[in-house]
Amino acid sequence: MIQVQIRWNFKLKPTKSQKIQMSQWLTTLRKHRNYALRERNIGFDTNNQDIDTSVVYAWGSWCDTESRTEYGSCCPLTCPVIKHGVVPRDLGKALKTSKGVVKWDSASGVQMKVTTQLRHEIPAFGNINSDVLQRNIAKLDAAFTNFWKHGRGYPRYLRALKSFEYKPKQVKIGSIKDSYAIFYLPGIGNVKMHNSRDLKLVKDVRTCTVKTSGGYWFISMLVEISDDLPQEKPVNEVKSVVGIDVGVNKLVAVSDGSFVENVRITTNSRTARRLAIRQRAASRKLKGSKNKAKAFKKITRTKHKLALRREGYNWQAASKIVKTADAIGREDLNIKNMVKRAKPKHDGKGGYKKNGASRKTGLNKVILDCGWGDLFNKIAWLAVKAGKPVIAVNPKHSSQECPQCGHVDKNNRSGEKFLCTNCGHTEHADTKASITIAKRVGLVFPKNKRTLPADCGKVTPVKTSTPKRVESRNHACESPCTQLSLFDLTAYTVVDSRKSKRYGKNS
Ligand SMILES: [Zn+2]
Repeated sequence: MIQVQIRWNFKLKPTKSQKIQMSQWLTTLRKHRNYALRERNIGFDTNNQDIDTSVVYAWGSWCDTESRTEYGSCCPLTCPVIKHGVVPRDLGKALKTSKGVVKWDSASGVQMKVTTQLRHEIPAFGNINSDVLQRNIAKLDAAFTNFWKHGRGYPRYLRALKSFEYKPKQVKIGSIKDSYAIFYLPGIGNVKMHNSRDLKLVKDVRTCTVKTSGGYWFISMLVEISDDLPQEKPVNEVKSVVGIDVGVNKLVAVSDGSFVENVRITTNSRTARRLAIRQRAASRKLKGSKNKAKAFKKITRTKHKLALRREGYNWQAASKIVKTADAIGREDLNIKNMVKRAKPKHDGKGGYKKNGASRKTGLNKVILDCGWGDLFNKIAWLAVKAGKPVIAVNPKHSSQECPQCGHVDKNNRSGEKFLCTNCGHTEHADTKASITIAKRVGLVFPKNKRTLPADCGKVTPVKTSTPKRVESRNHACESPCTQLSLFDLTAYTVVDSRKSKRYGKNS
């Protein structure tokens, strides 16, 4: 038995007063975060001096937000080194003494210390659990780390905060009944929740995030349970492999010839129309009115339900795929690059040529609606539970390469049909792509590739370079590579010309 950390989500059943209290917390926490961010920004801009004093940077304590470089890993935004960043009115708080050595504290350290003072002075802060306030600053710190180290955007001022966080071991599980259980959330009290898991397995509760979505409240707990995850099968013991090709027309083409339909959760004509109508109605309402708030609440509820439906659909698809074979091969897609907007085309006279931007936007919407990344994550998790390896392969030319003669040509594919211009081999284009992907994993099935992979007994392992392992997140390729589109733009037709007219879109 090994200890595994899993994130479990539960729906909370808070009372009316608890809901009000949590909403108030979120408002205060949002202000708190924005204030802390502004304090750091001002400290950075003015060198923590008067505005008239010119900014002088000490050697070794310098950073550049343009090139995202922190010299000596010390940025005024995250660490108040001498004359930089946040230094509170009473300087003593910025200093940390350990064993007689005086040290500068980090910006978050200083701001966390101030929270105690805030809680004494302002009742809205006094109501909030002190650790929740500190985690709020820690989340801002994480946003800065993402900015410096992981290429994410500069931390923004938030217009709405949707979640707050508890430190490990703070949330306690109370009585457990069949349909519900009670959690103790410090500062809020005992909150009922829908019990959808076996809570008796929980050995330890780590960090917990309380969040709101569509007017409902949820708790996301990182719990430690003792569970036996099976050992992953070594690649040479794998008896069968299944390749999957994700797409827009069919959500998934499986290499056994079957498909998972794309139901287009939010972009099917009916839902898209309904969302458009509700959105338009909401924007027409008077600004700041109760009716406007009500209308937007309706929209968030609808979107929340749609998200749940996609989640369920993807779980089903993932489970179906993982059950098919001993190993799963999938493309290593860079989805972020695939949904970039069309680049403008200059005509050389100061104007622009047509670049299909509207069509690309429509396609991007459909791609995002599929939730490929989410599907890959679900497959990865189910595969871990089943002890099956998931292997990500290079997607280059997977839709153009002929499986028989290996001929690569753009003209091999026309819409859903695949016809090799070299040898005349013909097949459904998506199925063919999935078979190519299964082959790239490095395990080739003798003769009949049409047979169900699970059924064919013999497998000839072919030696290839070590395939890349998949982590639960869909990482981009290690080396920055250009993403090839898996399908022709021409294959995608814009929904309905009549509709665009009716809604006055000039697309
Ligand atoms: Zn061919």
